[in-house]
Amino acid sequence: DLWADLDIVTMEDLDTSPPAAPGPPQELTGPYAEEIDIKLKQVFKLQTFRCNQFEAISAAMAGRDVFVLMPTGGGKSLCYQLPAVCRGGKTKGVTVVVSPLLALMHDQVNGLRNNEVDAVLLTSATREGEAREIRERLYSKSTPTLLYVTPERLKMSSSLNTILRHLYRTKELARFVIDEAHCISTWGQDFREAYQELHTLRDDFPEVPIMALTATADHKTIDDILVRLQLNNPAVFTQSFNRANLFYSVVPKGSVDELVSFIKECHPNETGVIYRTGRDKCEVLADKLRGKNLQARHYHARMTPEEKEMVQAQWKDGECHILVATIAFGMGIDKKNVRFVIHYDLPKNMDGYYQETGRAGRDGLPADCILYYSYRDVQPLLTMIRDNKDGNTTKASIERQEHALNAVVRYCENNTVCRRTQILQHFGEKFDEKDCGEKCNNCVDKGLRIFQDVTQEAKKLVSLVKSFGHENVTMGHCRQILKGSNTAAVREKGHDQHPAFGAGRHLPNQVFDLLFDNCLRLDVLVEKSIQKGNWHHHYLKLGPKADELLQGRRKLQLDYRPNTSKPGSKARAKKRSCQVAPPAQEPERQQPLYADDDPMDDIEFSPK
Ligand code: ADP
Ligand code: MG
Ligand code: ZN
Repeated sequence: DLWADLDIVTMEDLDTSPPAAPGPPQELTGPYAEEIDIKLKQVFKLQTFRCNQFEAISAAMAGRDVFVLMPTGGGKSLCYQLPAVCRGGKTKGVTVVVSPLLALMHDQVNGLRNNEVDAVLLTSATREGEAREIRERLYSKSTPTLLYVTPERLKMSSSLNTILRHLYRTKELARFVIDEAHCISTWGQDFREAYQELHTLRDDFPEVPIMALTATADHKTIDDILVRLQLNNPAVFTQSFNRANLFYSVVPKGSVDELVSFIKECHPNETGVIYRTGRDKCEVLADKLRGKNLQARHYHARMTPEEKEMVQAQWKDGECHILVATIAFGMGIDKKNVRFVIHYDLPKNMDGYYQETGRAGRDGLPADCILYYSYRDVQPLLTMIRDNKDGNTTKASIERQEHALNAVVRYCENNTVCRRTQILQHFGEKFDEKDCGEKCNNCVDKGLRIFQDVTQEAKKLVSLVKSFGHENVTMGHCRQILKGSNTAAVREKGHDQHPAFGAGRHLPNQVFDLLFDNCLRLDVLVEKSIQKGNWHHHYLKLGPKADELLQGRRKLQLDYRPNTSKPGSKARAKKRSCQVAPPAQEPERQQPLYADDDPMDDIEFSPK
């Protein structure tokens, strides 16, 4: 067993420990502590280390091979950037960083240069003139501190290999850093051909220490990384990704008023972030919230740097309580007392979701992470992924993004398995739901489960859509008709006379929403997106399974947990006393008819 003879330093995530008193500084010990601390402040302009950073840096300075497992956004870069700028310990020479993503490398190199660190980037796209300049510098006395290369460049370029050998002979090769090291493992999803070749680094440069970093916690992958890179008695730093103080819930997306009353009731005058997918959506929602007397501002990439900085500062000072932001917001934000992170639109992948929710409760005190889910949000995201606006997205990349989005949908729809278990499983970490401590809405809701047949209502809905034929109708309009809303739009077109008018009036809101969600998810209905100018309009159309339902060959049964009260941790106490009674009639089936291991099958058609 590989793990048996490793020097493993496992620490609980510092982020989850009780809030550190603001007085005494972190205790840093060891032979390099002083220099490490000075460089943290002087070069990187940071004050304290996050979990495992100091320890990993110290091990690197001592010349050891190092493996670091840290969640995305946890601060892996500092673990190799800081030793690179130190003089003490075994740090002499150039630190060579292998990383798979061009955009991220550019960001890092720019960030380093802003801090006056001498970093250069060599990729397959680097122009020859610039590449020659870099090569000359590597042969000269003034070698750069960090050299970022893509694995492809490292594999292909013979001139680069000659340089590395030269640096090695002159003892000017400080360290190899393999970022996103899981790309070397065929177990992982992101396996990358050129990463395979990295196993030769140890043979070719036996004296040069290697540091490997990843956010993938799966043991098989980690073992694979350690073996393939031939790490020698490495110092291993892992941490649980669990954030024990966060309460996770997924609730049906309702009106803005519901959102407002949740914030006012559970987080009055507290700081939070609401993530949305579009810039306009951010502005509109922030505006609405202000209209309800909440201190809200928007934040997105289209703002000028000055505007962004101002809004961020207002939010940091607590002058503005709520930021309604796109995912452009958050990198490097270290505000401790964020009490809630709300996703008002569907996140695109679980990595992003984890990272964004991770900005809540950094002080270790309870915080809420709430995802407002509607299946309707899926289609626009899929359209965006498939749109391929810049024209150079590969088919594989589109498939990967679709796959990632599917994982989010499964997470949202699975309202039985502990949310922590589901989230951590995504990172390869096993989490026993007994340890959740009822801090997710699935654990709180255990036991309440309702089966309800809504075939009749679904038939009415489908025949309603069918009656429109080729004419376009929106979901909003169909909802009004089915609900029996006597709105002007409905009356104007005489739809209050339609046989489907009011057919879903008797359904509770949650069931009403689920009816639509499931008709879409099960391809009874589809939303067609039609572009007019810059806008995508979504219209409801019959799906491939519509006829089976209409002809009575299928029924639609819901298996759901009622959302009895407001989302979030503070609603828990109330929830106990106001549980909704199960429906009066006997549920049609007590046992789900489908395999338990596929959460998508929790709600399904069953043959009549
Ligand atoms: P990772 O590679 O693990 O995903 P990064 O190294 O990109 O994470 O760091 C994520 C963000 O956290 C960056 O904006 C970085 O500046 C910030 N960060 C890293 N370490 C610290 C620290 N000790 N204190 C404050 N911010 C930090
Ligand atoms: Mg990184
Ligand atoms: Zn749980």
